[in-house]
Amino acid sequence: MYTVTNPATGELVEEIENATDEEVRAAIDRVHSAYPAWRRRPVAERAKIVSRAAELFAERSDELAEIMTLEMGKRINEGRGEVGIVVDIFNYYADNAATLLADEPLKVTTGDAVIVKQPIGALLGVMPWNFPCYQVARFVAPNLVLGNTILLKHASICPRSAQAIADILHEAGVPEDVYVNTFASSRQIPAVLADPRIVGVSLTGSEPAGISVATEAGKHLKKTVLELGGSDPLIVLDSDDLDETVKQTATARMRNCGQSCNAPKRMIVLSELYDDFVDKLSKHVADYFQPGDPADPATRLPPLASTAAADEVAGQVRKAVEQGATLRAGGNRVEPGAYLEATVLTDVTREMDAYYEEIFGPVVVVFRAHDDEHAIELANDSPFGLGASVWGTDAARMRRVAEQIEAGMVYVNRAGGSSADLPFGGIKRSGIGRELGPAGIEEFMNKKAIRL
Ligand code: NAP
Repeated sequence: MYTVTNPATGELVEEIENATDEEVRAAIDRVHSAYPAWRRRPVAERAKIVSRAAELFAERSDELAEIMTLEMGKRINEGRGEVGIVVDIFNYYADNAATLLADEPLKVTTGDAVIVKQPIGALLGVMPWNFPCYQVARFVAPNLVLGNTILLKHASICPRSAQAIADILHEAGVPEDVYVNTFASSRQIPAVLADPRIVGVSLTGSEPAGISVATEAGKHLKKTVLELGGSDPLIVLDSDDLDETVKQTATARMRNCGQSCNAPKRMIVLSELYDDFVDKLSKHVADYFQPGDPADPATRLPPLASTAAADEVAGQVRKAVEQGATLRAGGNRVEPGAYLEATVLTDVTREMDAYYEEIFGPVVVVFRAHDDEHAIELANDSPFGLGASVWGTDAARMRRVAEQIEAGMVYVNRAGGSSADLPFGGIKRSGIGRELGPAGIEEFMNKKAIRL
């Protein structure tokens, strides 16, 4: 069942039946059948349609933000910001289509060769609820420009976002069978992956979902992109304005109510600054991030996406404290609704679950590091390797540290961001492959070598 429940109030708004197996098979048939004509369209035509989609996303920004606020509790202004990045992504792939898909002449020992960049067929996308529009855009914009067709299964708490995105794409000129939204359940995904008409899959979501999809895709030798969880380290080496560093790092952590894969979930602070940093952070977090209505632009801490998510994160905090961590701020569930106070934990050690787990909510864990080497060691002592950030005043020192962090992306004096032109993705258990930037259009591409 796809269900819309307002996480700010707990009110059930809408329920939609899952697609039947027959409907899912028909959807596969549509995206498969639409592929030959779509791939034959000139790149410039596909790019024009994708560019028109960018305009429509921009026009419907308020409407999309309201849907996200209702479905998963995103602050209304953050929703508008998310649509802004979506517009950038569609524009990036439309504007750069000709360059990104241009033939690449290759130097070979004898004769001439060229790499031509072609699509591979009908793809499945499985998407999460935390950025209902942005996650879909990362997968869909490059693949539409490239010439692949798409069957999209969105998170079961986001059916209205799913439908609104499909409507925009179709209105922009994407043929109805080139992009098909399905309200399939996750139990139907193995059958979709077993179907020879689907040639690849991209999943953004949790580790268990990634394992399940990669296992099924592997059985049928299908190309997979996985964008999974993270527990990004944020290293503070030094600061010439600690109040400002605290404000900026806390804001990065609390963005989207802490439900971002690449949020700085573990803050690692050098000894000289540690005590002051923790005091200031705990006070700032408790004072500034007060729970409120996500539809009110003045609100700083919205609910989590569901009561189940809020209960889970509150449980992780409770367990950490039972295992010996120190609670420096927050920690309580706030009801009605799916709220959790903004929380700061310290003294988390390797023996505790919270040391290695991803905490997907408004919770900061702060670690003390004796020196740069120790900070790097703590940062890398994680099963995840999505993003990271290094904060300080000495560019060369930050660069040295950045190079030693095991992550797909490292930001300097900023955290948790994303932009259309910068590849996004992780190593270790954070995933396989990249989205965005030039790398994002290459994942489901046949880079065909032609020897002339
Ligand atoms: P999730 O529970 O894994 O759900 C993601 C999507 O996968 C949903 O559409 C879900 O469908 C589907 N799904 C779940 N189990 C499945 C299975 N066994 N087979 C096939 N599909 C399955 O994740 P979430 O709770 O929505 O998202 C939070 C997670 O995503 C966090 O770990 C976060 O770090 C990660 N994330 C990563 C990135 C990145 O770029 N690396 C970005 C955003 C989020 P239903 O909704 O129907 O269950």
